[in-house]
Amino acid sequence: MEVLFDSNSHKNVMFSDLTKGDMIQANQHVIIDNTESMILDPGGSKVYSRLFSHLADVTNPNKLKYIFFSHQDPDIVSSSNSWFTITEANAFLSQLWIRFMHHFCIDDYVKNRITPIPDEGMTIKLGESELLVIPAHFLHSAGNFQVYDPISKILYSGDLGASFGNDYVVVEDFDKHIPYIEDFHKRYIPCSGVIQKWLETIKNLDIQIIAPQHGAVYIGSSVKRFLEWLRVLRCGVEIM
Ligand code: FE
Repeated sequence: MEVLFDSNSHKNVMFSDLTKGDMIQANQHVIIDNTESMILDPGGSKVYSRLFSHLADVTNPNKLKYIFFSHQDPDIVSSSNSWFTITEANAFLSQLWIRFMHHFCIDDYVKNRITPIPDEGMTIKLGESELLVIPAHFLHSAGNFQVYDPISKILYSGDLGASFGNDYVVVEDFDKHIPYIEDFHKRYIPCSGVIQKWLETIKNLDIQIIAPQHGAVYIGSSVKRFLEWLRVLRCGVEIM
């Protein structure tokens, strides 16, 4: 577990080593404000029991308030039945993906426990804090959201910034990091226009850390380097 931010009442932690075997590495992030907590992208059903037990190190797992699903991928939503059964948490997911949840998630859970996020985003009140749900559509999913936490100044970027195959949790040297992010961003992001739109959306946010769902986090100067790299990236239909 890595602690990304900690004040007396507000804490941001990351679990980076709960995915095992052949499954794609994924981070599970938790934001705790006072007595309330939210998990972001809790991982698939094989990660669920490990995350649930480790959660007890930072907060009362039974009192989990929210679960945030950035998009619909199996490494994010496939554990939802278990979380809804064992906790009283409610979840957030793009309105685009709600009807797909019925394929594997109990109907009552989908209807009563998941708030559809409108395309323009929303805010989530957690404890005394207010989290911003930022639209990041087509990065890579058609209905995709990120969370900005104004207290820790962390942008939880979902799959954007994801790295694969690296063995470190913080990006120290951005140039050496590029080979671990390049293939994914070029193939999964449909075109550079969606990146430009997103850059416009986040331009006024004070971002100290970008924390993706996969691989290493970007802190300080590597945040700036990553955004510069992304600004000129050609991807998807432009290069296929
Ligand atoms: Fe994904």
